[in-house]
Amino acid sequence: MKVLKFGGSSLKDGTSMISVGKIIASDQEEKVVVVSAIQGITDSLLKFMSAGRNEEEVQQFIKDLRDRHLRILTEVANSMDVKQTAVSLLTAQLVRLERILYGIIYLEELTPRTKDLVQSFGERMSVIVMAAMLQEMGVNAMPVEADELGIVTDGNYGSATVEMEATRNNVAPRIYEMFKRQEVPVVTGFFGKTREGHITLLGRNGTDYSASVIANAIDADSLEIWKDVDGFMSADPKVVPTAVPISQLSYEEAAELSYFGAKVLHPRTVEPARAKSITIKVKNVFKPDYEGTAINPKGVEGRKTIKSISSMPNMAMLKVYGSGLGSKSGVMSEISVLLSEAGINIYSAATSQTCLSLLIEEKELKHAEKALSDAKRGVVDRFETVRDVALLCLVGEGLGQKVGIAGRVFAIVAKTGTNIGLISAGASTVALTFTVKRKDLEVTTKTIHQEFFGG
Ligand code: ASP
Ligand code: MG
Repeated sequence: MKVLKFGGSSLKDGTSMISVGKIIASDQEEKVVVVSAIQGITDSLLKFMSAGRNEEEVQQFIKDLRDRHLRILTEVANSMDVKQTAVSLLTAQLVRLERILYGIIYLEELTPRTKDLVQSFGERMSVIVMAAMLQEMGVNAMPVEADELGIVTDGNYGSATVEMEATRNNVAPRIYEMFKRQEVPVVTGFFGKTREGHITLLGRNGTDYSASVIANAIDADSLEIWKDVDGFMSADPKVVPTAVPISQLSYEEAAELSYFGAKVLHPRTVEPARAKSITIKVKNVFKPDYEGTAINPKGVEGRKTIKSISSMPNMAMLKVYGSGLGSKSGVMSEISVLLSEAGINIYSAATSQTCLSLLIEEKELKHAEKALSDAKRGVVDRFETVRDVALLCLVGEGLGQKVGIAGRVFAIVAKTGTNIGLISAGASTVALTFTVKRKDLEVTTKTIHQEFFGG
């Protein structure tokens, strides 16, 4: 029993869809397929909503969506009955979407709830095309919507968390029932539904997370994340052309790399799979025989000092000053509560007697300043901001125990004349993170890669 996930970049046209179909059709195991929207569709839904629109534009927009999906459908399905069923299912989705878009225009109101609902339509349409193609290939595929299946989330619009137990109780019996009927469920990624019945998104690229949740719910033996790259690499190949693929990672290594900028997996993908010790395989749709990266407890073996370097180029430092800040209890928690209520992630933190330095994404800076202006007087006197910061993350199981690795890293970085800012070494035993000025990110990454990988 396995779960296979396919992202938008593998679903851009008929040809890439057929490569996906062949992978699914040639696999005899019981399986669930989880898919993203067709490439570019989520962005176009978002873009359409973010500008003021009039009624005429809705019709054109719906027509374009219809044309794009029908064009792909025609490339992947020939038989009349398969095509007709798919067209009527697509039409029903488009009618519903059209009404919602008119609603937004008439009410002149766009709430986070409606924004999430609208974006869920990309996946609601892609599963129809995907299931039709698989039926054409002789697979007994059925499109399934995540809200119908029972993926339960909290109410954090735009970036919700799945409530795993409630989800498992809903999803497992339904999927097993489908397996009994020899059906292959093709499930929408990216969203779930709150207990109150509202659609919530799991964050951009959240389909990886959806797939991991389903794997957990049904106790799958493995989770395959199919992409258009070879898996995790020792560094971003755009920065370091000699970067090499990584065949094994531990759950923790993969989680840290994903959190700190490697764009291979949605950062929350690891957790549900890890909870059930399910192996995650990251594979390339266009090279299906290539092994890719396996993420499992065994990833600990082959212990290299550093396995991979990831980075987040667009960070900023928020320095919060207050007298005696370091010795007052509760200051750190007050500040982090204010930031988390504003939905702002803190990536690293360091404190001294008078200053608390917090690393956040640069785009959140204004928002963070506003949130902290509510902090109690006497706690925060003033704050300063430092822009153009980049975060590097070095990952390797055992990095925490080996004496001297951090020293070796900092010594070679110093040779390039780069100044190191905030360092965090103890938070995870597999990750070492530090900041540099954005302009120094490239040379720092290259230098470290050269030192540890020789290229
Ligand atoms: N379609 C959504 C996005 O573009 C979810 C996903 O691709 O996983 O973010
Ligand atoms: Mg995507």
